Amino acid sequence: MSEAKDFPQLTGPELDGLIESLHHWSLSHGLVMYPPGFKSYAADIAPVTLYPTPFPRKAFEKALSVQQNFNRLYVSLASQFKSWLIEIIEELSKYDKDFTGMLYETYKKAVEGNNGKIPQPLSLGLFRSDYMLHKGADNSLDIKQIEFNTVSVSFGGLSNKVSLLHQFLNSSGQYDSEYSYPYYEEDDIPVSQSLEGLSLGLKDANYYYNDEQDSTKTVILFIVQNGERNCFDQRHVEYELFTKYGIKSYRLSLEEVSLKTSINGGKLYIKKTMDEVSVVYFRSGYSPQDYESDPEQTWKARLHLESSQAIKCPSILTQLSGTKKIQQVLTQREVVEKFLSDVPKEKMDELFSTFVDIYPLDDSELGDVAKRLALEQPERYVLKPQREGGGNNIYKENIPGFLEKLDKADWAAYILMELIEPPTYRNSIVRQNEVIRKDIISELGIFGTVLFDEDTGEIKENRNADWLLRSKLSSSNEGGVAAGFGCVDSIYLY
Ligand code: ADP
Ligand code: MG
Repeated sequence: MSEAKDFPQLTGPELDGLIESLHHWSLSHGLVMYPPGFKSYAADIAPVTLYPTPFPRKAFEKALSVQQNFNRLYVSLASQFKSWLIEIIEELSKYDKDFTGMLYETYKKAVEGNNGKIPQPLSLGLFRSDYMLHKGADNSLDIKQIEFNTVSVSFGGLSNKVSLLHQFLNSSGQYDSEYSYPYYEEDDIPVSQSLEGLSLGLKDANYYYNDEQDSTKTVILFIVQNGERNCFDQRHVEYELFTKYGIKSYRLSLEEVSLKTSINGGKLYIKKTMDEVSVVYFRSGYSPQDYESDPEQTWKARLHLESSQAIKCPSILTQLSGTKKIQQVLTQREVVEKFLSDVPKEKMDELFSTFVDIYPLDDSELGDVAKRLALEQPERYVLKPQREGGGNNIYKENIPGFLEKLDKADWAAYILMELIEPPTYRNSIVRQNEVIRKDIISELGIFGTVLFDEDTGEIKENRNADWLLRSKLSSSNEGGVAAGFGCVDSIYLY
């Protein structure tokens, strides 16, 4: 394997010039995010790295190559094997009535209200599989999966922008301290087509909703959080949909849904304009906080959307297939082989090579092993509840104390995951006017889009939608970009 080239070593006025150039490019191209407590007219540059971060080409290619099989795996959970999924969800609902339980109840009500059938069998997944690099026995770096996200995956818009930014700075010679040559080989700085990819996934759903016609009469409804600071990431997708395909979109919060939409003959409409909605795209609704302003109203809104014939991205079952508990069960090979029966062995090996050990904390034999590990060797593990969106995990030495405070009966709601130990790189994070040159670690996300039939499991489109790299200081456990821990990054392949 070739060695990664070191980062450019710019200092003084050259570094200042590079930062100014980065600022100007980012503001010109919408690589931006609202700051906390924002006014709608002023955004900040999204936190980014100054340089792309090294990533081994072989590991990168593997992450891309395995994605479509992951898409298929999660499709099979929400379709042919939904009774298996539902059994686990029913069990989880006992521990987590207010969220997992409510999602599941909402699914059941939508089906009951439609004579026992899901109101729209077509279903859209915009997924993202997240990985970190980990050193294997032979000392080479390989990808290990952190989690598989099936709802509200973000940064498809900004990932495209940050990779374009780094490509520009490199190709225009601004990383070169002496001349103005590209510092990296241009082929080694890939541009992520994630913006195009996610938009194409939504366009697929609009096409299949309209009986395989590209229609610009129907619209896509984005369900968004109030005060979303990362709205430009979503806006890039909306602009791409409109510019490239002529598809209009609307944005509503869960609180606004009842007032501003109606269902007529099963179809969902925007009340004011009577635009028919082909796809409901959730960029909210994945965590309990999204419902808490007025639970009765917001859960009613979710049911209302679920009861319509608009294609949901994701459907409730698809969303629930992405829970951490399911990820844990899927580390058992015989289980996955059942769900992906026609995938050849070498492809299955590839998929499994991305897993680290994940244990249940239930009454099973494996659960007993896990409980011992959690208390005796906590420094090797992270404990995760069934939550999305960052800030929920318990790390290393904090695990035993945390578990001891819990009622033993509630331990089964958690999974215990082996810690991945990624390499660190001394890149720089640019955040507002600060340049922080410290060790960072990175998480690669691979996007995938899949349009399928939840009744039959038939897959209409299954696509790879490129990638995202997020980085954070190696001293912090979690990497939320909006939450202020991390930043968006891009890749230097070596
Ligand atoms: P969330 O649904 O909150 O995004 P994740 O499973 O992605 O939950 O965990 C959040 C963050 O915690 C990840 O982005 C990563 O930085 C860190 N993390 C999670 N699992 C591991 C692991 N097994 N090893 C090392 N870091 C991890
Ligand atoms: Mg995550």
